[in-house]
Amino acid sequence: MVKKGEMLYAWTTDLGLTKKAECGGAVSGLLKFALESKAVEAVLAVKKGVDLYDAVPALVTDPAEIDQTAGSLHCGTVLLSKLINSYVPSMKEKKVGIVVKGCDMMGLLELAKRGQVNLDNVLMIGVNCGGSVSPVPARKMIAEKYGVSPDSVVKEEIDKGQFIIQTADGNHKGVSMDELEDTGYGRRTNCRRCKVKIPRQADIACGNWGVIGDKACKATFVEVCSDKGADLVTKAVAAKKISVEPANPKGIEIRAKIEGSMHKLADKWRMRDFSMLAPHLWRDLDKETSRCTKCYACIDKCPVCFPAADRLKKPSIMVRRGTLPVDPMFHLRRLAHISDSCINCGQCEECCPMEIPLALFSHAIRTEEDSFFDPKLGKSEYTN
Ligand code: FAD
Ligand code: SF4
Ligand code: SF4
Ligand code: SF4
Repeated sequence: MVKKGEMLYAWTTDLGLTKKAECGGAVSGLLKFALESKAVEAVLAVKKGVDLYDAVPALVTDPAEIDQTAGSLHCGTVLLSKLINSYVPSMKEKKVGIVVKGCDMMGLLELAKRGQVNLDNVLMIGVNCGGSVSPVPARKMIAEKYGVSPDSVVKEEIDKGQFIIQTADGNHKGVSMDELEDTGYGRRTNCRRCKVKIPRQADIACGNWGVIGDKACKATFVEVCSDKGADLVTKAVAAKKISVEPANPKGIEIRAKIEGSMHKLADKWRMRDFSMLAPHLWRDLDKETSRCTKCYACIDKCPVCFPAADRLKKPSIMVRRGTLPVDPMFHLRRLAHISDSCINCGQCEECCPMEIPLALFSHAIRTEEDSFFDPKLGKSEYTN
């Protein structure tokens, strides 16, 4: 019997899934089992759209369709948390499995605090996350830094600090993230600052860090984070849907070291980004937000800011429609509303047509508030 706190190597026993999965297919195997055993009625995950720069949300109810969601899309910046209510309108009553990166998980926790999600009905399968790359800049990066057409890329991965691509002719090329990021490419800026690399408030946290020896690339490292997660893994093993073995102690050590160095790197980026902002925060905020077109995408996508759709229909202080150029109070109100619980998911910035560094502002304010005030504003169990 698997228990909360255990660290395992896990892989699916389904050979079809193994071929499509990223690292042994434990995640897909568990999701498929959760559907088959009726532990959940639906699964919300991500699948490839027209190409690997097009990660689209997928709601799966037929276990046979889980294989469409297998594999990691590092150019997939979609946040699943806020979508859960639109994809599963009756989700407060339905049991749903959802694949969560750190930001998806934090988004769900914030939605639960606001009564939008019933976490008792959610099975969170966490995936570790070193960061994701925005799709349009990724295409430009591949053309410029790798010298190939982005359309010729059939697989991408992030491994040992490199962004590696494989082209249709079978060639591989890797460039270090440091080099990419020093030249303005690589992971999204919010991802560089993110410290929720292992989503431990999910039911299980799965990733490739720490998988060594003969299981390297063939299994996923699973940290069992809750009794619900332990129950799922125990039953999936008993049903022979996944296989597990204890994680190699050396692998556990390596994983902890990688996590520690990712945190240090995130601190470095925070220092760099926030110190650039600190001397002239109001000036920069005023200048950057002055080009806002009040399209409301930042509000619509934010997992902390809701229920945007309802509010937009009625007059409201926070999102009052008005003439352009935008009144600075629009952004001050928005920041006042979200900054105590901004999760730095980057959705606002990602969707802003005017390329305003919105997540930078709200994350800087949230981080500063958290460092001064106790109890922490927007406090939750996670650390960000
Ligand atoms: P699979 O069975 O292949 O299932 C993968 C699941 O991930 C699928 O359900 C799929 O829908 C979902 N998924 C794919 N792309 C996304 C996305 N963009 N957003 C949300 N869900 C998605 N592990 C580490 O240890 N270190 C890392 O630095 C790391 N970075 C990652 C970055 C990203 C953007 C992603 C998506 C994953 C990352 N992982 C990382 C996790 C790792 O790549 C594998 O997902 C994990 O080991 C599980 O492997 P698997 O074969 O069991 O997964
Ligand atoms: Fe991953 Fe964090 Fe970026 Fe989310 S914000 S994609 S968890 S690095
Ligand atoms: Fe995410 Fe932006 Fe909302 Fe913060 S303000 S939670 S970064 S969408
Ligand atoms: Fe303004 Fe950008 Fe928000 Fe649209 S997404 S309302 S342009 S800040």
